[in-house]
Amino acid sequence: MQLEAQIPGGPLETKWERHRVDLKLVNPANKRKFEIIVVGTGLAGGSASASLAELGYNVKTFCIQDSPRRAHSIAAQGGINAAKNYPNDGDSIWRLFHDTIKGGDFRARETNVYRLALVANLIIDHCVAQGIPFAREYGGLLANRSFGGAQVSRTFYARGQTGQQLLLGAYSSLMRQVGRGQVKMFPRREMLDLVLVDGQARGIVVRNLITGEIERHAAHAVVLATGGYGNVYYLSTNGMASNVTAAYRAYKRGAGFANPCFTQIHPTCIPLHGDYQSKLTLMSESLRNDGRVWVPKNPGDPRRPEDIPENERDYFLERIYPSFGNLAPRDIASRAAKRMCDAGKGVGPTGLAVYLDFADAIQRLGQAEIEARYGNLFQMYEKIVAENPYKTPMMIYPAIHYTMGGLWVDYNLMSTIPGLFVLGEANFSDHGANRLGASALMQGLADGYFVIPDTIGGYLASTRFGEVTEGHPAFQEAEADTDARVKKLLRIQGKRTVQDFHRELGHIIWEYCGMSRTDEGLTKARKLVADVRGEFWENVTIPGSQADFNQSLENAGRVADYLEFADLMLLDALARRESCGCHFNEAFQTEDNEALRDDKHMCHVAVWEYAGEGKEPLFHKEPLVFEFVQLATRSYK
Ligand SMILES: Cc1cc2nc3c(=O)[nH]c(=O)nc-3n(C[C@H](O)[C@H](O)[C@H](O)COP(=O)(O)OP(=O)(O)OC[C@H]3O[C@@H](n4cnc5c(N)ncnc54)[C@H](O)[C@@H]3O)c2cc1C
Repeated sequence: MQLEAQIPGGPLETKWERHRVDLKLVNPANKRKFEIIVVGTGLAGGSASASLAELGYNVKTFCIQDSPRRAHSIAAQGGINAAKNYPNDGDSIWRLFHDTIKGGDFRARETNVYRLALVANLIIDHCVAQGIPFAREYGGLLANRSFGGAQVSRTFYARGQTGQQLLLGAYSSLMRQVGRGQVKMFPRREMLDLVLVDGQARGIVVRNLITGEIERHAAHAVVLATGGYGNVYYLSTNGMASNVTAAYRAYKRGAGFANPCFTQIHPTCIPLHGDYQSKLTLMSESLRNDGRVWVPKNPGDPRRPEDIPENERDYFLERIYPSFGNLAPRDIASRAAKRMCDAGKGVGPTGLAVYLDFADAIQRLGQAEIEARYGNLFQMYEKIVAENPYKTPMMIYPAIHYTMGGLWVDYNLMSTIPGLFVLGEANFSDHGANRLGASALMQGLADGYFVIPDTIGGYLASTRFGEVTEGHPAFQEAEADTDARVKKLLRIQGKRTVQDFHRELGHIIWEYCGMSRTDEGLTKARKLVADVRGEFWENVTIPGSQADFNQSLENAGRVADYLEFADLMLLDALARRESCGCHFNEAFQTEDNEALRDDKHMCHVAVWEYAGEGKEPLFHKEPLVFEFVQLATRSYK
């Protein structure tokens, strides 16, 4: 496997501009001769489909949901970053770039991150032009708030519904192209295989989730924007349909998978309240702008929070990280909360929670202002927990939220398979070992609106394409494989539900590959996962048939992939002999229990190549070369 990152030369600030000029263009009249498949309609896929169709390409767009606007991106709450410096607090493109590289614990490619910071401002302009109702100041300027890992306010937001508003913008642009006939929309389809002809990605095989029919679709290039794999943990803040299937099947066809063990645990989620819960709910990071995180100083304190006096509270983030306080980045804040709970200071019925308290902010700003900033989040909390967070502090605990790992891509967002591009959360590209808040929306829209329209043109204009139709033997083979796998699942007729297996897998991965990891635990988890995987293929029960709407069958396919993919995560975690960002191996920590990187030996992207059924995957490295930033110990103190 060749890992050619295609990083352009020259000064950092002008690399992208030069690269765009160097990329070949497709003549406008020729664009209509190309078919492009886009899988996914979240912010990355929706924006890519709309932009590519606007350019004149013929686009076929696929998603699992009944409507493209139900993609998981709709759940995003807190905001999107860009260095417009409207608050005049010292922000700049360089600072956004540097915060993002540092936030990722220096495990991302600096050229990609610089481009991200650069185009972020264009995203805001584009979205304002679309009519996205970003919050505004009294004078009309767009409002900004702070997010973790930054000392400036650069997060643009639409209350706690930023993802929904941005997705409506992308969806409107997409539907305009559907109306013009430039995008053909295929909802309720699940991509189950990637089709390669002569080593190039030339199409996909999907299952029609309503009729059960298996369909073939050919194109000149395939764009995957299929989101993250956080649901491998079973309980996560992700949408229920989020999955690894499309990315994992592409991996099995030869696409390198990068840094699969980099999974983000978000510090502020509503704590788990029972064994049969199937979903966790995020409380946006924006709440840490005004909420203060604390635990009682005395372990096991039985009093209600209102009855614990000020001098008996430990505002531990403010104490340990005085410069960033409650806005310490997610990995750091999550581990600090875990340490408090491990020391017996956790609150609530399970002892696995800390307080997020708004009393000071309400006193300072008034309840109306807090309601204006976070009203929908407070309402959501009250509905779930049945406590009024304006009066009683929220209880929060870390939960799995985002995956920085993903398919490896070069600077053009192309995977190791020519013609297969990967955007948004599905790729590994920009967040290193830890993503900063409000930067996933930025990356998804940067990839879809501003990067892929240029880079895919460069590929199409410089590649020779043979004539390929859905009748090609490669499509027949992929369809037969897919059909056989579906039938195999249905034949098992065992005794345990798909959900039961998924829950067991989630427990294992959370326990051994969650906030804290050890070699012993990871090794044990590999064995446990293998046992669950073995039992799954003998004892899973899937009611219903192949030829109708069958969500157990859909989920079974996804869980089967998670059961294989989990092993890749564990292997990756074992191979990374350091702690960095979210990956905290207890053997590598400082005296203050912070992550201890090994820049000499581990400053690389870990990329895994599928080696065949039952074989250990092959390991490759993309060295990370830092020309423009200096590697430093990450400190938020
Ligand atoms: C609760 C919550 C709040 C968040 N808030 C923020 C925030 O405030 N700011 C921020 O920057 N980030 C936030 N994030 C992260 C951010 O929302 C996601 O990273 C981002 O929306 C992912 O976008 P995407 O387009 O890559 O994928 P998604 O939005 O996940 O879209 C994936 C698409 O792929 C399709 N798909 C998947 N698999 C298949 C398949 N096999 N076949 C066909 N289609 C498939 C789906 O149908 C869907 O259309 C939040 C995340 C969560 C969970």
